[in-house]
Amino acid sequence: MNISQALNIFNTAGVGIVSILSVFFGVRYPTPFFRTWSTAYVTFFLIVLIEMFAVHFQRPLPLALLQTALFPFSAWYFLQTANVVRGRVSRPLPFAALLLAGFLLSVALLLHGVSYPFAVEPVFLPLDATIVFLGVTFLRLPMALPSTRWLAWSLIGFGLWPQIFPYALFADTPLGTLGYLLCGLLNVAVGVAMVIYLVDESWRRFQAEQGRQLRLHSDFVSIVSHELRTPLTSVLGYAEFLEDGVAGELNDDQREFVSRIQLATQSLQRLVEDLLDVSALDSARLKLEREVVDITSKLEAVLVSLRPQAHKAELDLQVSLPPGPIPVPLDPGRFEQVLTNLVGNAIKYTPPGGRIQITLRSLPHELRLEVEDTGVGIPKDKLAHIFERFYQVDSTITRQHNGVGLGLAIAKAIVEAHGGQIGCTSHVGRGSTFWFSLPMPVSHEHAVLPSHP
Ligand code: ADP
Repeated sequence: MNISQALNIFNTAGVGIVSILSVFFGVRYPTPFFRTWSTAYVTFFLIVLIEMFAVHFQRPLPLALLQTALFPFSAWYFLQTANVVRGRVSRPLPFAALLLAGFLLSVALLLHGVSYPFAVEPVFLPLDATIVFLGVTFLRLPMALPSTRWLAWSLIGFGLWPQIFPYALFADTPLGTLGYLLCGLLNVAVGVAMVIYLVDESWRRFQAEQGRQLRLHSDFVSIVSHELRTPLTSVLGYAEFLEDGVAGELNDDQREFVSRIQLATQSLQRLVEDLLDVSALDSARLKLEREVVDITSKLEAVLVSLRPQAHKAELDLQVSLPPGPIPVPLDPGRFEQVLTNLVGNAIKYTPPGGRIQITLRSLPHELRLEVEDTGVGIPKDKLAHIFERFYQVDSTITRQHNGVGLGLAIAKAIVEAHGGQIGCTSHVGRGSTFWFSLPMPVSHEHAVLPSHP
């Protein structure tokens, strides 16, 4: 066996491997693309297989005719593959007529004794043209991935090469050796590119499906939460009527029951609001309504509503603020939500007699707010997870406190939407310090507070 024959085997093996892979994928994923692609490739493989036989032995006329007949089939299926990729069919009849004419011409040339490599050109040329067309089709895909481009260029090279370097020269000459060698390498490139393309494509589909599931899930949560809002408001409203004695004076037991209804409904309302926030985060609907506010007076105003809670839990709530107003562009409602969550948690997780220290620091490029408590603390291995949704360090403790583990996840999203950062340091049994920082875009002396009449 000479080198040209050996390379012919290499080339055939290359096409064979791509064909086997194509059939494997075609059976595994019976999509229109893999059906047409694998048919085109297997037909092509049969052509190359006959060629290998002919190079090693001989090519009797019936075998030459059979091989010639396979070219139009392969070309037809490569064109169908391109149509599937493009999503439309173009001129099937003229193309079928062209293939038939090419076939008849090749048969006539063969019957007139023209040597096979020349006689087969009328069918070989359309086949290579369709392979190049498929490559160009891949290149022109609107969202071509790098692997798609690789597949495209391999196909274009693979289709052009036998025509640039005429197939008739793929004979037993040193140049023919080069021809086979490059053809074999291009085959391997097509095979590898096809596998990578498949993996990339599957990954893209998987991500698209995951995105769809996430949207469905968040739409579901959002619709259900919206529907729950109205009846909850109505329950609270009627409970208030009862409490005010609109339906007659209440005795002590009745008053106690109404107050329980109110507390339970309010915590349900908070849960519904949290769920709505979470679904807004999922669908990137969390919109900030920023305005320039004095963060010190805003902070003091929020603390006014939290002090009674701290007092009830027998906790000492201390605040340390820098002197003077600090104007900051932020969403006041969302800021209040973050602060209420952090201070609310400090109150929930600190035993009576403990202390909560809130400190606001104005640093050169950022504002930093710290909420330090002397509470139960968080184990080191759990600290990394507390900002995840529905994560609770010890759900038995949190059950007593009406939590579902959404507050910190929402706080994180809000702080990050402001361009800031949030974090926590903690020691079990000694307490935790939750902090968040907000960037100060301009030196705050230059920011102007809106003037109130
Ligand atoms: P929850 O509604 O459960 O309080 P969060 O998202 O606000 O949800 O908090 C998540 C978890 O982090 C809580 O369940 C609790 O285990 C832990 N955690 C939050 N703040 C503190 C704190 N100040 N001290 C100890 N553990 C805390």
